[in-house]
Amino acid sequence: MAHLDAKRTVRDLKELRDRTADENGAQRVAFTDTWIAAREWLKGKVSALPVEIHADAAGNLWTTLRGASEKALLIGGHMDSVPNGGWLDGCLNVLAGVEILRRINAQYAGRPPVTVRLVDWADEEGARFGKSLFGSSACSGYLDLDEARDLVDRDGVRLPDALAKLGIDLEKVKDSGTELRNAAGYLELHIEQGPVLLDLDLPLGTVLGTYGVERHAITFRGQAAHSGSTPMNRRRDAFLAAARMSPEIYQIAGRHGGVCTIGSCTTKPGIVTSVVEECRITLDQRHLDAAALARLLADARAASERFAAEGNVEVSWNRIWQIEPVLFNERLIELCDEAITETCGTLHRLPSGPLHDAAEVARAGVPTVMMFVQSLRGISHNKIEDTKEEHLELCVTAFDRLAEKAIEWVASAPASSSTHAAGRSRA
Ligand SMILES: [Zn+2]
Repeated sequence: MAHLDAKRTVRDLKELRDRTADENGAQRVAFTDTWIAAREWLKGKVSALPVEIHADAAGNLWTTLRGASEKALLIGGHMDSVPNGGWLDGCLNVLAGVEILRRINAQYAGRPPVTVRLVDWADEEGARFGKSLFGSSACSGYLDLDEARDLVDRDGVRLPDALAKLGIDLEKVKDSGTELRNAAGYLELHIEQGPVLLDLDLPLGTVLGTYGVERHAITFRGQAAHSGSTPMNRRRDAFLAAARMSPEIYQIAGRHGGVCTIGSCTTKPGIVTSVVEECRITLDQRHLDAAALARLLADARAASERFAAEGNVEVSWNRIWQIEPVLFNERLIELCDEAITETCGTLHRLPSGPLHDAAEVARAGVPTVMMFVQSLRGISHNKIEDTKEEHLELCVTAFDRLAEKAIEWVASAPASSSTHAAGRSRA
């Protein structure tokens, strides 16, 4: 990789920070002037290369270096940030991709064996309208248009109107799916945003996929009764039954892996002098394996029914939200392992708790993998988000090795099995 300059990526990241952050952190919120300026700066960074640049129907920005084959390797990230965000989330992926385009262009004299495309997804964070993965879910076809039509920001601006100002027609955003027509592989680098690699003292990890999620509200119903006159053995205490779920979910996660969280608890009547009549808790369960996720859920349900019966109260469940696990491509996972091992010797595989654009691309049927780089303090979506500079350089080097291996893999794969059928459109 004679032409790769990982230090240049770090310089580019600092330059972007100087332009788009203030004392509170990164301010590249999607569809704002700062975000538009960041994209213009990005276009300037690739303008010296023999690339074609355009925005698709959903506002995703594509930079294409044509190769000998139409089959395309995609490298993705997002320039947008949350308000007061970190300096690496999303743009590290994009700027590493820029450096890799420079290297590929130099190595292959402007014509790599396969087409290489860098995509800057629009509004990954969903900071303004509360809907994450906007551009990538439009492209994958999974965006819920009915829901998107009704989204409103804090100032009362509707999403369709905000998009129209930028020349984007919400009703046509799924036309962006045609961009995946020749996509044969998708790679995404990201900071981990958690403490796993930090605790293992490892710089890099291969991401196996993104967690599936089961999110429910669980309501226990007993009977309100005077706190002074009701003997302990006569109570139908909804809070007691709900509270027993708290240690139980640790047991359940201990048995099956994954993570379980009771994030909220409300009681009625909610006064100091009454036994709790109604207690509502929320339960968020996540696992990389669909069968294990189903076991997490089934065990929690069974426990809630047992506690309800023992406490002489009733229990009911309501699903709030659900998504299945998204598993990345086995061959690309192996290539990512190889790239990391060659770069820093030690390897770790881990799932992603947060969702990423890569999950949407994988759901659309494109072979996908992600690489994580360690986050200092395990913190993200915060101005203190950081990664050691030596780790940033390592991740650019390893990600470039992965890109080269993926180019060879895409080039050698038969067209029929590696080329994605585009134009899928889901309601
Ligand atoms: Zn991100």
